[in-house]
Amino acid sequence: MKYVSTRGGMAPQAFSDILLEGLAPDGGLAVPETLPRVDAATLESWRGLPYADLAFEVLSRFATDIPADDLRALTRAAYRQEAFNSEDIVPLRPLHDGMHLLGLSEGPTLAFKDMAMQFLGQVFEYVLTRRGTTLNILGATSGDTGSAAEYALRGKRGVAVFMLSPHGRMSAFQRAQMYSLQDENIHNIAVHGVFDEAQDIVKALSGDLAFKTRWRLGAVNSINWARIAAQVVYYFHGWLSATTGTGQQVSFAVPSGNFGNILSGHIARRMGLPIRRLVLATNENNVLEEFFRTGIYRPRAPAQTYATSSPSMDISRASNFERFVYDLVDADPARVKALWDDVARDGQFDLSAELPRFDADHGFVAGVSTHADRLSTIKSTYDTCGVLIDPHTADGVKVARQYVEPGIPMLVLETALPAKFSETIEAALGQPAPPPAALANLESLPQRVTVMDCDAVSVRRYIEAHAKV
Ligand SMILES: *Cc1c(COP(=O)(O)O)cnc(C)c1O
Repeated sequence: MKYVSTRGGMAPQAFSDILLEGLAPDGGLAVPETLPRVDAATLESWRGLPYADLAFEVLSRFATDIPADDLRALTRAAYRQEAFNSEDIVPLRPLHDGMHLLGLSEGPTLAFKDMAMQFLGQVFEYVLTRRGTTLNILGATSGDTGSAAEYALRGKRGVAVFMLSPHGRMSAFQRAQMYSLQDENIHNIAVHGVFDEAQDIVKALSGDLAFKTRWRLGAVNSINWARIAAQVVYYFHGWLSATTGTGQQVSFAVPSGNFGNILSGHIARRMGLPIRRLVLATNENNVLEEFFRTGIYRPRAPAQTYATSSPSMDISRASNFERFVYDLVDADPARVKALWDDVARDGQFDLSAELPRFDADHGFVAGVSTHADRLSTIKSTYDTCGVLIDPHTADGVKVARQYVEPGIPMLVLETALPAKFSETIEAALGQPAPPPAALANLESLPQRVTVMDCDAVSVRRYIEAHAKV
């Protein structure tokens, strides 16, 4: 299996090669030349596999250049019982009215980013060791990516992590989780700006080919294809857990920001997994919901990006969206390029002619959830099911309710545990979320972070002074 760019300007490359890159050299994103298909008999043969072995089956179709025995060892190291707080790794719990919670937040940082990042940490070390080289990871986080990357890569040989976060825009718990790491290869940089601006710095520095090559910059943000591939696994696992036989359909509801999580669902569906609908939930930053409602994609400026109580979804330019648009225009890189040229010129593009296909061909529908919705959904879910959900998951549950169909399980992806966002839990229920025992005193630990202006020059200097050579 080889990978090409959504904008057509990259010679086909192997999984291990795109693993260490960010954007493709032409500014596009790496995508498989053709997607692997999983037929019904193969799918049935995967019932009952431990999560790590299911991950091997799915990922072996994407990472074809890694020998099978090595890949199996990597997935077993990534999806170990000791790293996850659940024997199933990804538990499925019933809610009400045919809805279920797919628990993606049992990993070390209590959010779904661990699902992909634990694998990435293993496969990075594997590829770097074999190539005898080092890598400096540059990323931006709205909270959960950063901590998941840092926990997956802390202390790993040959890798340093430079993680930009928006100063003052993460929860106290998120800050404590990231900034309390004392490993010398982990660098927290808080910039005076919003997530999209931090992301722009990452794009600027990774887009500077001389700088990128000189300092061997790599990426772990959600444009990294290996993350998308690793996330495909839990859609298969969710389907296998919620069904008993061939061909049964399941819908998934996905709290969305950078469009990475739901893109993995789209890939799983295209591989042949019987997914009825992919329900995209946004918060007040509803650029994606607007697109699925109108066909017009109109990303917003940082000043129009609200700080909400589901902060990991405060994104107005979803970096993975281009991969979905590539499929919408039938893998035509010239059209993808033209659409992004439209955005650069007019601030938007218009695919309203394709609107009927969004649901009919791809199963996509969308909805918005507001702060008031989050609070009432947290409360009603707690009152009716005795289950405490976090604000992002609440956005998913709220929008999922609009699309539940009889006889079709609706799996809401639990993207974080409530303890991470206790301020909002307290606003909803009048009492804070109980902290997980192992992390009870996290917020009292000393923190290690460098605060700087939100400009690429400052970040560049910092990397030059601290990078692994
Ligand atoms: C990252 C994140 C999201 C959004 O996922 P995307 O892949 O960026 O769409 C939702 N909820 C939580 C808790 C997250 O950490």
